[in-house]
Amino acid sequence: MEYHHPNTVSADAFEKRSTVDRKVACDGGKGPLGHPRVYLRIEQGEDRIVCPYCSRCFIYNGAH
Ligand SMILES: [Zn+2]
Repeated sequence: MEYHHPNTVSADAFEKRSTVDRKVACDGGKGPLGHPRVYLRIEQGEDRIVCPYCSRCFIYNGAH
């Protein structure tokens, strides 16, 4: 499940989202960046993953 951290900063060109789950789903949301839903996995030792479709950045914010 996605978790939307209240302190998420989206000042950059691409949206960033914090997640407490290493497995995230992305469909690009509504609008021009929308794409078929894909599941992305933040690998052990990594702290983020960028969706190859819409460049949305998911930042792992779970237990380390
Ligand atoms: Zn995406």
